[in-house]
Amino acid sequence: MNFEQYLLLINSVKEYNSYQEKDVLLSLMKNPEISIEKISEKLGLSYLIKDYNIKGNSLLPFMFKARQNTIGDEISAITTCTKCSHQRPFSIKIDDMFFKDPDNISMKYTENIIGFLNYDDIDEDLSFSEYDLFEEEIKNNSKFIFDNSVENVCPRCGNIDKDIIDYSSIISKFSLESIYNQYLDLLEFGHMNLLDINTIPSYEREIYSRLIEERNNKESS
Ligand SMILES: [Zn+2]
Repeated sequence: MNFEQYLLLINSVKEYNSYQEKDVLLSLMKNPEISIEKISEKLGLSYLIKDYNIKGNSLLPFMFKARQNTIGDEISAITTCTKCSHQRPFSIKIDDMFFKDPDNISMKYTENIIGFLNYDDIDEDLSFSEYDLFEEEIKNNSKFIFDNSVENVCPRCGNIDKDIIDYSSIISKFSLESIYNQYLDLLEFGHMNLLDINTIPSYEREIYSRLIEERNNKESS
């Protein structure tokens, strides 16, 4: 897959619903070692594995894209300095990580090509056109490498830590408990049934349950 094909495929990713969000969080709670392939399947991305043979961390940008479509671009987390224990919140923009600024990707992509191009092994008689073909072949078959870590510089001691953005934070900005609370609000006060709530995405669930909470607060005051 080349970079253009990759971008096209990225843009085909759809949002996921409340059932899928809850399902992934539950699975992660039961088994924190669950594979990225399994999570992707639960998010409706199994076609990437079956039809495009995308596996492992190569599924990460697609997972991030699904989250971007469903919940938004920004992920907030807390980092703790491993040197001085200073804690602070930080946030990352998914666009900066994978899409708008492809420098990160291009760099690794180039490294990959250079890795493949072991000049000693190339036939010295390779003509320019053959060389172009060879390079094209490598480009099309090289893999994009991704990771879900962010470099954080400690403002207190300057230490640099690599924080992994875990799967739960990618998939949801809520804990399971607060999702169940939102479900309860919608069941009890929103007059929705379980099936309805399961099919709406996270942001709708959040809006409904916030409105209900505001109304309940007004009535009780
Ligand atoms: Zn520090």
